[in-house]
Amino acid sequence: MFGGGALVAARRAFRNATTGRRMLLIATATFLPVVLVSFLLGSALNRSAGLTADVTTEVDTLVTPVLALSDELSGAQILLDRYVATGADVDRAAVVSRTRRIDNAFAALDAALTGRAETADGMGITTGLANARASWEFVRDTMAAPGFTVPADAEGQAALLRTLGAEIASVRSDLAGVAELATRRVSAAAAEADRSARGMRLLLLVAVPLSAFLAVILVAWLVRDLRHGTRALREAAEQLEDGRHGVRVSGLTHGDLAPVARAFNAMAERMELQSRELHEIANRDELTGVMNRRGFQLDLETEFERAVRYGRPLAFLLLDVDHFKAVNDTHGHPAGDVVLRAVADEIQDAVRGVDRVGRWGGEEFAVLLPETVRADAEHVAERVAKVIRQRVVIVDGDPIRVTASLGLTVFDPELQVATSTAELVERADRALYTAKEEGRDRVVFAAS
Ligand code: GH3
Ligand code: MG
Ligand code: MG
Repeated sequence: MFGGGALVAARRAFRNATTGRRMLLIATATFLPVVLVSFLLGSALNRSAGLTADVTTEVDTLVTPVLALSDELSGAQILLDRYVATGADVDRAAVVSRTRRIDNAFAALDAALTGRAETADGMGITTGLANARASWEFVRDTMAAPGFTVPADAEGQAALLRTLGAEIASVRSDLAGVAELATRRVSAAAAEADRSARGMRLLLLVAVPLSAFLAVILVAWLVRDLRHGTRALREAAEQLEDGRHGVRVSGLTHGDLAPVARAFNAMAERMELQSRELHEIANRDELTGVMNRRGFQLDLETEFERAVRYGRPLAFLLLDVDHFKAVNDTHGHPAGDVVLRAVADEIQDAVRGVDRVGRWGGEEFAVLLPETVRADAEHVAERVAKVIRQRVVIVDGDPIRVTASLGLTVFDPELQVATSTAELVERADRALYTAKEEGRDRVVFAAS
């Protein structure tokens, strides 16, 4: 659970970093563990080599002299045997001379041991040597005592040799113990260092492929993010090229491509705004402010298609101002323009926000009423006729009144009578003509 969370957090941090930082991270993740383990391995090998050298030193300074001393003692035993057997002065001199050599060897060993660390093994060595020395001194003091004489009887001689022989054996056994301890303690340390070096070597064997694996994963993440980012940008650019100005790049909020995505989105937004403005200019009637014929026609196609596809009702209305020529003739063309603007405003105010009003041409207007059945459309048409009739436009102090004739038709999904917009327009036009024929200022409905 925690591991997964940490991985997700690490991935997020990695994705948010710049490409340069990510490359640095990849290099660090790849090389740092290997360098670290190599360093540890080096120091373990160093330690192992040092301890191996210590074993040699220990053998030279302690083990070899101790074993030599043991040999001296075995020689002393032979000399003693001979002296006890002969009682001759020359043999006694040989024994005394040997005791001095052994004394010197003990002294040399003592000197070699001073200054050693007081470890458990060191203590064992010191104690072993002290024991050996104590036993030795008993032998020496017995034999080298000034008044020492060999017992005259064979029984006494045998008892003396037994006692001294046992002591010498004890000294040699103590020395053997010291030699073993001395060897064992350093070789154990050397073996331990060797084990640790082996462990490090093994760790290195694991660390190298693991680092490589980590590097591959990180590089894969990096490449994936960059590819995903560039693909998102490319696809967005292609859509923009196709004229879809509403396209935006999402999800590229961090990393190197984030400023590119931001700039792209700002550019697309500007293009969308400009294209909307252009569309507005191209499709709006300058005089009245409602849609021009072109714009209205586009909406008519769209709405008609939707009505057919979803089986929804749609009403269409054509309006022509009555005797408008007379308005121009009486009040002048500019006054006629004012009246046309007023008529457009009245129509716009009389319909819903979803309804479309357009200038069909001259003093003719068209109205599109989506989702509207005949009864409702007639109601709206009557209201439009009424507000135009009631509107008084004052130009240069002169009140101008006009009326309008309206031709209405609907697309009824149940009947499916109109199969094209042209047909719808043709029917409304016919109804409008009838309205004019029947005396103007009225609404006429044409079903088919
Ligand atoms: P009817 O009742 O039969 O429709 O009579 P009408 O006089 O309205 O019919 P007609 O089509 O003969 O006249 C339309 C007039 O509308 C003629 C034209 O000068 C005028 N007109 C067309 N566009 C404009 C415009 O933009 N401004 C002004 N002031 N007049 C325009
Ligand atoms: Mg006309
Ligand atoms: Mg007219």
